[in-house]
Amino acid sequence: MSQQQQINVDLSNAQDIVCENCGNYTFEEVLLMKKLSALLSPTGKEAIIPIPTFACNACGFINKQFLPAAMRGEDTPPAEEPTDKPQLKLEQ
Ligand SMILES: [Zn+2]
Repeated sequence: MSQQQQINVDLSNAQDIVCENCGNYTFEEVLLMKKLSALLSPTGKEAIIPIPTFACNACGFINKQFLPAAMRGEDTPPAEEPTDKPQLKLEQ
């Protein structure tokens, strides 16, 4: 009975991930569904793409960190905003 795989990770130092909405700490695997329009699809047909992620199993909320990068950016502004980008000036 000592043949079990050992994992040398001290979980007492690992951070718990909790639901950002309700604080629950258990999650279940769910699928995000993305619809790819026929124009963008390589097959020329509309495609449904399932993306596995994790949702709080108490309230169903999906933490941002579980979302694919492409779906996170909506309410967080991008880190770099080109506000003082050098501009070409024509005045002399
Ligand atoms: Zn929750």
